[in-house]
Amino acid sequence: MRLILVGPPGAGKGTQAVQLSHHFSIPHISTGDIFRLNIKGETKLGLLAKSFMDAGNLVPDSVTNDMVADRLTHDDAKSGFLLDGYPRNIEQADFLKGVLEKAGTPLDAVLEFKLESAEIIKRLSGRRVCRDCGANSHTIFNPPKVSGVCDECGGELYHRKDDDEDVITHRLEVYAEQTEPIISYYQSTELLKTISAVGEVSEIAARAIAALK
Ligand SMILES: [Zn+2]
Repeated sequence: MRLILVGPPGAGKGTQAVQLSHHFSIPHISTGDIFRLNIKGETKLGLLAKSFMDAGNLVPDSVTNDMVADRLTHDDAKSGFLLDGYPRNIEQADFLKGVLEKAGTPLDAVLEFKLESAEIIKRLSGRRVCRDCGANSHTIFNPPKVSGVCDECGGELYHRKDDDEDVITHRLEVYAEQTEPIISYYQSTELLKTISAVGEVSEIAARAIAALK
């Protein structure tokens, strides 16, 4: 199973990615993780990305693309993968298409999570992210066993500035402008499956698995 997850920030992609990665026994590849690993491992691409971030600039698509392409050559991605947070725009989607075509391993599906903006704002304001491993939890919808502590690794959970309401509104605008076009892009290839991201984590996961069958 070679799968991409798309959906607005706050649709629960990260949480669903973990569920689906277990269900299909495929690695969950998020751009956040790839960045963390490359920067921690001080790879050539990691150092390059860090130089942009340290200067307060966005990491260019070319660097992100190369990191993703490299990650897809790892052994655990040979039998499939789940991409979360990538592609984020048409250029990245085109790049990915080229990489996969060259490798003879086309995508099987693109799963879109749909959610209203008001619900997104409610969700994101309660979101907490692990400082160490990047895992997501939620004060209401997916609370950790111990408040403020990551279930996965015991790291500290924090509220990202990104998840403040005014920032969320801006992120939704960016999503509509840059990422929504990739939904029509994949619609034209008949890879797209759309599900509602309303409900409990387990309900949404069951819906996702049914859509992918
Ligand atoms: Zn953690």
